[in-house]
Amino acid sequence: MAATPESPAAATTRRKAGRHRGEGQWAVGHHTPLNGNEQFKKDDDGLNVRTRIETIYAKSGFDSIDPNDLRGRMRWWGLYTQRKPGIDGGKTAILEPEELDDKYFMLRVRIDGGRLSVAQLRAIGEVSEQYARGTADITDRQNIQLHWIRIEDVPAIWEKLEAVGLSTTEACGDCPRVIIGSPVAGIASDEIIDGTPAVDEIHERYIGSKEFSNLPRKFKTAISGSPVQDVVHEINDVAFVGVVHPEHGPGFDLWVGGGLSTNPKLAQRLGTWVPLDEVADVWAGVVGIFRDYGYRRLRTRARLKFLMADWGPEKFRQVLEDEYLERKLVDGPAPEEPVSRWRDHIGVHRQQDGRFYVGFAPRVGRVDGTTLTKIAELAGAHGSDRLRTTVEQKMIVLDVAEDQVDSLVAGLEALDFQVTPSPFRRGTMACTGIEFCKLAIVETKGRGSWLIDELERRMPDFQEPVTINLNGCPNACARIQVADIGLKGQLVLDGEGNQVEGYQVHLGGALGLEPGFGRKVRGLKVTADELPDYVERVLRNFDAQRTDGERFAQ
Ligand code: SF4
Repeated sequence: MAATPESPAAATTRRKAGRHRGEGQWAVGHHTPLNGNEQFKKDDDGLNVRTRIETIYAKSGFDSIDPNDLRGRMRWWGLYTQRKPGIDGGKTAILEPEELDDKYFMLRVRIDGGRLSVAQLRAIGEVSEQYARGTADITDRQNIQLHWIRIEDVPAIWEKLEAVGLSTTEACGDCPRVIIGSPVAGIASDEIIDGTPAVDEIHERYIGSKEFSNLPRKFKTAISGSPVQDVVHEINDVAFVGVVHPEHGPGFDLWVGGGLSTNPKLAQRLGTWVPLDEVADVWAGVVGIFRDYGYRRLRTRARLKFLMADWGPEKFRQVLEDEYLERKLVDGPAPEEPVSRWRDHIGVHRQQDGRFYVGFAPRVGRVDGTTLTKIAELAGAHGSDRLRTTVEQKMIVLDVAEDQVDSLVAGLEALDFQVTPSPFRRGTMACTGIEFCKLAIVETKGRGSWLIDELERRMPDFQEPVTINLNGCPNACARIQVADIGLKGQLVLDGEGNQVEGYQVHLGGALGLEPGFGRKVRGLKVTADELPDYVERVLRNFDAQRTDGERFAQ
């Protein structure tokens, strides 16, 4: 008997069902681990590794560490093994993980909202000097990362950090990472709403809790009530963006499902207005959906953006309301366009209370322990006890009296931290790169710094805002897809056919008013040595051809 022909609609439904049958979603009954990461998370919660670090590994040394802790659970406490020195980028994809592992760690200090007191910054500086060979990098998620950490020193480092209220809890791993917050929350004179209470409530209720310590993969949060929209909300798993509801007043617009990496997607609005005191509950609902419905079969599809791509914002909102909040959310307006193309708060700005905040620019986020301590002392000597890190790898000193501003600016500039930097120093970011990262193919930090020097020397009159982001591999830790000039590290051929370090170029990415991903210019790859020549050429062409007010991205 001939089979009955299937209708196109039925075929589509069957294909979709088939595609999702094996995604490993807990909510549809898939609790059997489908890969090694899911297995080790099921075997033991990532948070539990702390006890073993304190009682066994720190005493018995690196070789005593269980491999599932070493390359898995230790991330829940901010620890990654760093790259063994001297292994070139060509070997990254060839070697086994254990061949790339050094016996030292990167330690990520979690800084929710980018908020630091003088004592906290000093403590990080001292840990860097005492335990991390002086290393310290400000990340583009407001954290500070240290390198060369020995497992033997980790308990003492925790003690020192926790004594001043800092932690490394869930700084990495498949859990809620640092909560990005507007670095000028509560002080900026143009603020729509201060999101700080929501950052604190989420942290107190959920960070370090086993309710969300086994997610399909990492989960990134951003909260800002600044009209500058200074938390890259477009590329976070969940974001709350300050808006004014015509009836209910200031609150937040909810965005879900953004993320970059190798399959970038912009977050989508759910079209709902969330009051400040409900942000933590709504956040927990979104994370709950990710925990229960998120895809766990393939690591490459385990971010919330893939679920959002399949569900769409209407279904996501409906599930959030019906299954997690058990109430309807209020419809709300979209945010206004950002009030500034620079979103980093560099420069001197008046606060709500009449004092000033001073934003300054370390080069590509690279600092060191001694310098962090000097920044802390400088801030304290000018009457401030509050500093901030930004998502552009920059820093801000808050609460400076008017008669102290000039002296503080001079002190920062003496440390090579410019308060009125060139667009190149201001707009260039770089990820960790081959110096410490096991996934890296090329160097980034030193090259980014060299590029800044070259562009400042060659183009002293160029004043347009421009973002130049360097990554050491195809991942997106430095957000290459949303930069004006994104540089993705890879090996390329030089003029003589030799394989050398270089970059695939992406042009015209942007966040803000018209967000979009940069175009990968087909075949456009530059060697590392050619980088300043290439970037100079692109910028000069742009400058010569642009019309008034044109953004680089257009
Ligand atoms: Fe490492 Fe690649 Fe991320 Fe850079 S982009 S820090 S090289 S994983």
